Amino acid sequence: MKNPFRFFLMALAAQALFSCSSSTTQSSQKDSISVNTTAGRDTSQVNKEKQPASAQEILSRKQVPILCYHRIREIQMPSKSSMGYEVTLAQFKAQMKVLADSGYHSITPNQYYDYLVYGSALPEKPVMITYDDTREEHYTIAKPEMEKYGFKGVFYIMTISINRPNYMSKEQIKQLSDDGHIVASHSWDHKRVDRLQGNDWMEQFDKPKKQLEEITGKPIEYFAYPFGIWSQDAIPEIKKRGYKMSYILSTKRDSLEPLHTARRMIVSPEWTPQGMVRVMKSTFR
Ligand SMILES: [Zn+2]
Repeated sequence: MKNPFRFFLMALAAQALFSCSSSTTQSSQKDSISVNTTAGRDTSQVNKEKQPASAQEILSRKQVPILCYHRIREIQMPSKSSMGYEVTLAQFKAQMKVLADSGYHSITPNQYYDYLVYGSALPEKPVMITYDDTREEHYTIAKPEMEKYGFKGVFYIMTISINRPNYMSKEQIKQLSDDGHIVASHSWDHKRVDRLQGNDWMEQFDKPKKQLEEITGKPIEYFAYPFGIWSQDAIPEIKKRGYKMSYILSTKRDSLEPLHTARRMIVSPEWTPQGMVRVMKSTFR
């Protein structure tokens, strides 16, 4: 069993390099982020009194910029083999700093959901900071760097890699959750959801959710599609397993299922810190 598994890990590593492919398209719908009278009240109580928004209403609300990180390296790699899916430690530090200096506040998926579905208020200049693929440096580098500024991150875990070399351990994932960061699902082994069938739904959606709930002791309610690729067939399977929202990358949101095609953007190593802020503003309208 040893060799096949090693082969699998190599395949996984190769796949991770190409994770979450994206193209840049922009939604044309816009509105200002609402600041409503429910701010400060218990949102769960407020929301019970409200009707959930229609897809059309959700699409009309201004999107929150959502950053997506994969690898964070100590030093720049000489080749471009990673195709932009990594930033250096120095770049990452500068990016967190520019967010803080520009007055951004990190929000959680629950806050985004309550805003989109119930119109709940968000802090001024909201941003969501997300990490895919369970990398160990998300714990060792990203977590302390974000915490300097009071930011909370969202960590999308592919559960097959837990406890493997260079990936996070169960204990690290639990600590993220205990410290107020959000743990979410990125499938079991990073298969494209448009190729799933039969028992795959259970393997890719149910099992990781249950495993992460056991580790964190909290409900796992958010999913990020491997490679950012979604499908119409996958959405009902995801919904019936208790996920409230699912995240794509830079492709267009679906007009009927905006909650399960929520947009993010991969942070490019080509951007300056200020450039990143400009792209955030132009991409999420
Ligand atoms: Zn991924």
